[in-house]
Formats: sequence, structure tokens, C-alpha cells
Amino acid sequence: MNTSNNVLNMDEIRGQFPILHQQIEGHPLVYLDNAATTQKPQAVIQAITDFYTQCNANVHRGAHHLSDEATRRYEKARDTVANFIHAHDRKEVIWTSGTTEGINIIANGMAQRLQSGDEVLVTEMEHHANLVTWQQACLRSGATLKIAPIHDNGTLDTEAFAALLSQKTKMVALPHVSNALGTVNPVKELTALSKEQGALVLIDGAQSIAHGNVNVSDIGCDFYVFSGHKLFGPTGIGVLWGKEKVLQDWPVWQTGGEMIAEVTYESSTWGELPNRLEAGTPNIAGAIALAAAIDWFTSLDLNAVQAHEQALMASALKQAQAFEGLTIIGNAANKMGVLSFILQGCHPADIGFLLDRQGIAIRTGDHCAQPLMRRLNLPGTARASFSVYNTLEEVDALFIALKKVQNMLA
Ligand code: PMP
Repeated sequence: MNTSNNVLNMDEIRGQFPILHQQIEGHPLVYLDNAATTQKPQAVIQAITDFYTQCNANVHRGAHHLSDEATRRYEKARDTVANFIHAHDRKEVIWTSGTTEGINIIANGMAQRLQSGDEVLVTEMEHHANLVTWQQACLRSGATLKIAPIHDNGTLDTEAFAALLSQKTKMVALPHVSNALGTVNPVKELTALSKEQGALVLIDGAQSIAHGNVNVSDIGCDFYVFSGHKLFGPTGIGVLWGKEKVLQDWPVWQTGGEMIAEVTYESSTWGELPNRLEAGTPNIAGAIALAAAIDWFTSLDLNAVQAHEQALMASALKQAQAFEGLTIIGNAANKMGVLSFILQGCHPADIGFLLDRQGIAIRTGDHCAQPLMRRLNLPGTARASFSVYNTLEEVDALFIALKKVQNMLA
């Protein structure tokens, strides 16, 4: 599917997503809720079917053909992820159930190491997964949670961020891209600033992973977490990437089979990476299907993907700016994937409902970012979020439908 002229073949791409070809309420489905979860190409659906029809067995422990084949596909999937995110070593890729679990593994370990006087720095634009988890780790350990403010336009106040960093800062956790605002944070620069103070850095990659090249080595962070389901893969699988030297003695998360070295009735020792952080039978089919998703995604020209998504965003912003009564929430110059907005006199929930009646799927509400909504003085927003399979015609359809919504509610 690589294109030489940086243009995607949209019919071919959309043809691979069976779910997109249906009518909702008599209208063609326009799926603009990609920040919540992406749809799955046929290759991913097929990878799940193939696993269960060809080689379903448990991994690493079988003395038979099916187990060997399941293990081969499962461990190959780890290589696929490692290559995709430019990890130094496959051992650095830990399977999780998603972004939330990845953050919890690190916060749980950190809570055992933090003490009173230590600080954890997050931002005002966190998803609850990266706020509540650190808040609770701080409450358990006696450390202090610091919140780096944003400007009114939805960009991080990087000067305030830098001023909050000190030798007391043991952990910095922030999103690569905000799910509520679309703001792209300068994670490489922020990581470098944090590292100058000796802090560990976790990047929440839930919203960035499906939009182009993520290079964890280049960013320089210690941990990068994401969910498979936002990257064209299935639910229930995700990735915690961490630098080998940091992860190798990270406090174990869950205990049980697979993660041990030696066990007696009295005590146990832990295995090596990646197994030490992967207790129990993993989501084998999920990992294999996530690799199929990555293979599908990387078969596209990723520069063309980015150009296409920028064109979608540019069209959406242009139409939103010209739309009377509409206010865009989050006006960062560098935005990715997400258009959040409010419409004068219209409750976001009503907008969502009435767009759905026209076949258009968006998300409304607080986007799992209640403190951010409070900071912006909003009950919530309507959010359209774009993916590679969306078209400029679908962006137009959103604004035509929105005009009808406005007329109905006015
Ligand atoms: N962080 C961000 C920025 C997100 O957008 C999401 C999902 N909305 C999460 C974390 C949590 O992801 P998951 O529910 O897949 O664990």
C-alpha cells in the first residue's frame, strides 16, 4: 500500500475496515470517535481468528507444536512493537492491558520508593489515568503531587513547568497528546528539562501512538505507555515500554506464574525482563493482533498518513472557526487528532445525541479529565477525533450535521 506520491488510497484503506460500511439511522456511519477507540482493519480481525483456529495454546510452557507456534507469534509481536517504537531492546516491551495498567505498574513501583519531601509532577491536562494514579501514589507514599499549569489556549505553560522542577522531583508524568484538547506537548524538550533534575519521566502515549512516528529512544523518557485499541488493535492489550536499566529491578507488580526465577514455600525470586512484570497467562491473541495492527499501519506511508490527518484537522479548524456560535476548546498551534468544541446554547450531550441521529459518532462530556474541565470552566465539550480512514467529506458532513443540530436546539 505504500504510495510514492504521499497520497493515500482512501478507498483501499476504508475497504479494510468492515465496520465503517454501515448505515446508522439511515445515514452512512461517520466515525469521529477515534480518540476513544479506533476501528479494526480486517488484518487484525483475521489475526485473532487465525490464532484461535490455528494455534491456540498457552505460551512459553508447552511441550507441543501448538504452544511453540503460539509462543513464536506472541514473541514476534514483541519484536514488532519494539521496532515500531524504536526500543533499544525487545526486553523493554512489557505487555499490559492498556495505558491505564502501564501507568499503574509504574506508579505502584514508584509509591514504594517515594517518601515525604519527594515530588511528582503532572500537568493540568491529564486524563484521569495519569492523574488519579499519581495522586493516589503520592497519598500512599507521603510525596507531594505538583500540577504544571496550562495556558488558556490549552498549551502547557512550559516556563511554569520548568519552575516546578527541582531535585525534589522524582517523577514527571505527562501526555504526549491531550485527549481533551489535542495539544501536542514538546515531550523531548520537557523530558530533557526533567532529566536535568534527575527525575524519571513517563509519557502517556495513548493519543499519539496512532498518528505517526513515535521514537521512545529519541524522546529520551524512561517509560512510554499506550493502548492497543487506540492503534487499530483489540481492547485488553497495551504496552509499557521502559528503559532496561530502569525496569530491570522495578518493583514487581503482580506475582504468580511466569514472572518468577525460583520458588520455595518460604520465598521467591523474580525472573528477568520482560517476564518479571508479566505475571500469569498473558493476552496472547491480543498481543498477536496488536502486532497485526502495527504491521497494517506501518504498511502505509506514515508521512502521507500525517499529511492526510493534518489536512483533516486544517479543514475541521477552518470550518469550526467560521461556524457561528462555536468555540474551539484547545487552540494549540500543534494539535493532533482532536477537535474539542462547545456550541452556544447547546449542551454537549444534546449535540452528541443529535449528531448520532445523523450517523455521526463523536464523544461528549468531560473526557476523563474533570479537573481540566473545571480549570476551563466548562461542564464538558463535544469532541470529534480523526483517524487515517476519515475523509474530508466526513469532516464536511460533521459541520453540515452540526448546523442542523444548532437549528434544532436554537
Ligand atoms: N491517557 C489518555 C491521554 C487517554 O486518552 C486514555 C484513553 N482515553 C487513557 C490514558 C486511558 O487509556 P485506556 O483506557 O485504554 O487504558
